[in-house]
Amino acid sequence: MNAFDLTGRVALVTGGNGGIGLGMAKGLARAGATVMIAGRNKAKAEAALAALKSLGGKADFIEIDVLKEESCRSAVGATAEKFGKLDILVNNAGTSVRKPPEQLTAADWHLVMDTNVTSAFLCSQAVYPHMKKAGGGKIINIGSMMSIFASSYATPYASSKGAIVQMARSFAVAWAKDNIQVNSILPGWIDTELTKKAREQVPGLQERVVARTPVARWGLPDDFSGIAVFLASPASDFVTGTAIPVDGGYSVMA
Ligand code: NDP
Repeated sequence: MNAFDLTGRVALVTGGNGGIGLGMAKGLARAGATVMIAGRNKAKAEAALAALKSLGGKADFIEIDVLKEESCRSAVGATAEKFGKLDILVNNAGTSVRKPPEQLTAADWHLVMDTNVTSAFLCSQAVYPHMKKAGGGKIINIGSMMSIFASSYATPYASSKGAIVQMARSFAVAWAKDNIQVNSILPGWIDTELTKKAREQVPGLQERVVARTPVARWGLPDDFSGIAVFLASPASDFVTGTAIPVDGGYSVMA
């Protein structure tokens, strides 16, 4: 048996229409899973679906606004209904607001916390009965270096990424009895739309990241294919509640 084989498994990846989410979706599809990518931007989703299908993957798109409870619940329900099951959930959708903390509004705070944490709570809760019924499942939350380190210019983001890791640990403990493994991935600095904005807003960030990262480069979305397959497959059946950095060594650099 190939412990990394995902043939017959069904995955839902929020924000799978681009960036790190698409990098993970590609890995899951290559390993044999049917992948539902969920997001708002349909043009991005069409390009993502074409990329997944060109790899020979089985993939579909469902619209989701993770800021809306009903949208989270119905995307999970519709995916399970369409494919008859839902084995893998990747809570990847995320956003940031960059300002000094004293300038943040309550709306900034809620936007980031609701997009990054509440959505993962809602989707995980919605997927639980499907995984329990099937005898198990895999949930993967996307944290950040800011799950570990502080940020002077992204307080809500750092708070949300700390929270999503603690939430994964709590679900891991609660749902171990149901054979559901729940883990987090902590990306380093990755070249995506999200960090394009950060590089525009934070002078010198591009160079500082390269200087601080032992492998001396920014990460790429495709760097997340392998870890997604590992955490979604039987290879990780005894791995739960953990948070794995995928960061080119950023988090261990003195
Ligand atoms: P992107 O901006 O490329 O991806 C963010 C994704 O989230 C998009 O696909 C977007 O979909 C989706 N999304 C945001 N808000 C909503 C919403 N309200 N409803 C539905 N979907 C939404 O950035 P990344 O790929 O970099 O980010 C992916 C994850 O990785 C995030 O959780 C981010 O915090 C995390 N991360 C990224 C790092 C990096 O260096 N890039 C480092 C650490 C963590 P749409 O475009 O359709 O709105």
